[in-house]
Amino acid sequence: MNDDLNDLVQQTHVAGVLAEKLPLDPSAEIEVDVAPSWLRAEPFVDSVDVTLSVAGGEMSYGKSFRSGRWIRRAGLRLVELRSQGQLGQEETAYRSLVATASKDHGSNGHGSNGHGSNGHEVALRPPAIEIPPIEDRTLEELGIRRLTSGTLAAHRPILVNRQFERDVIERTRDTGLTETGGAVLGRYVRLPQALPETETRIVTVLSASVCDARHEGTSAQWHISPDALAEAAELAEISGQRVMTVWHSHPFCDKACEKRDTCQAVVIPAFFSNEDCQMAEMLFPSRASIFPVSGKTAVGQTDPLLVIHGWDDGLKPVPWRRYED
Ligand SMILES: [Zn+2]
Repeated sequence: MNDDLNDLVQQTHVAGVLAEKLPLDPSAEIEVDVAPSWLRAEPFVDSVDVTLSVAGGEMSYGKSFRSGRWIRRAGLRLVELRSQGQLGQEETAYRSLVATASKDHGSNGHGSNGHGSNGHEVALRPPAIEIPPIEDRTLEELGIRRLTSGTLAAHRPILVNRQFERDVIERTRDTGLTETGGAVLGRYVRLPQALPETETRIVTVLSASVCDARHEGTSAQWHISPDALAEAAELAEISGQRVMTVWHSHPFCDKACEKRDTCQAVVIPAFFSNEDCQMAEMLFPSRASIFPVSGKTAVGQTDPLLVIHGWDDGLKPVPWRRYED
């Protein structure tokens, strides 16, 4: 579990910094508290609560997690059990997370050193502090003329160039059943003032997509070319930006057809698959990373829809707002 918990600490830290509830300074001393919250009674864990506070200071930030890497591990185990025949295809397996008290620290697991159940000391490596580079800029300097439709999350405002969204929609429609995508340029900036309805001056800006034929798509996957990604990074640098993430599409089809009700291209929405998750963690491991996916939504949508996923309690769709430049 240690790596799993480090994940959650990392995520809480990044979210706290972007929300301006924790200091930007990576050398600030931060106290970490990780505690299980019980589902009715010990030892079944309902959520893992992570609170980070600056030693002796006023700043603190907490998040509560019901999902983490252990859920994906449990999912893999389920597939294993089924393939070994220990669990029938129709049988249900239940998953539970349990916590046991360590010898010295009581039941809430304080401190940076843990103890294994056999009494030997297990050193917990605190996660490396990973704050993305954040520049001080005004909206004018970013060439943002006006904000249009969409929603901003109070603690994590995300601004997306309307032209980027148009490009994504057009490309998704053009390539149809073949997945496509591209590098996404942008930056993290700290505005002089928080935007209306938000509580932090730090915003994430996605400005443009760089598509490249070296990224190859099939109807089930989209392969990313490291060379093309490196070239996009050079391009980003010229405009003072960086490659923030990659976007990709899921098979899309809007033709009227009698098989429509069961067609994969129609029923697969712009959700984030397990493969997507793996790709995300490998290429953009920062917990600040966000991942745009385009495809269908579940109900009666005719245009490809752009959905942006971010780390919350797992990777989830997050709110964002369009801007015109
Ligand atoms: Zn995908």
